[in-house]
Amino acid sequence: MAFSRILCNLGSKSHLMNQFRFLSCWSCGKNTNNSSAHLFCSNCNALQPPEVKENYFKIMGIHETYDLDENDLAMKFKELQKQLHPDKFANKDKHEQEISDQYSSLVNEAYKTLLEPLSRGIYMLQLRGKEIPENTELDQQFLMMIMEKNEEVENAETEEEIMKLNKENKAIIKDLQKKLSLAFFDGDLKMVTKLLSQMKYYTSIDNQIQAVIRNKGIIR
Ligand SMILES: [Zn+2]
Repeated sequence: MAFSRILCNLGSKSHLMNQFRFLSCWSCGKNTNNSSAHLFCSNCNALQPPEVKENYFKIMGIHETYDLDENDLAMKFKELQKQLHPDKFANKDKHEQEISDQYSSLVNEAYKTLLEPLSRGIYMLQLRGKEIPENTELDQQFLMMIMEKNEEVENAETEEEIMKLNKENKAIIKDLQKKLSLAFFDGDLKMVTKLLSQMKYYTSIDNQIQAVIRNKGIIR
């Protein structure tokens, strides 16, 4: 596939690549300008392959921001799922079926990553060429506090206790989300890294709490 040649030909127009992909349709050979809103060739209606290098926000067709609208994301996900549903390709040729499979898994991955505040933050940090270091420089006091929280969750016996911890922890994560949104907006990647490292711990406490809630059979 002469993709690199196409990129070269685009030259100064490459900014357009952010919105549209001017590629030849694999099926009919006509030029097709498909964006995430138009997955299909405008000429022959064949599904076009996803641009793997495209970032998850573009794949989902949403504005790139940490502070995304989760309902909007879910809506876009449902719409894409509908368009890429295997039943729609059951009678199409094998190549198009493969494209739809590949596209579906990419959409699933993008949705999962962007939906969760932690993975969304880590992904956005990656887009900026950074990641959370293995040994984060969180102070002793913070780690002690996390250990205590862990114990509190382990020792919670009543539904009331666990639901109280759940509420508190969710509020902390929400607060971190707000701070992260600001830090991304300011381009303060040092702050982003610090906040994400903290969020990692609170998210693991959240997972622990949700497991207790499930095990206790609490219906919310
Ligand atoms: Zn076509």
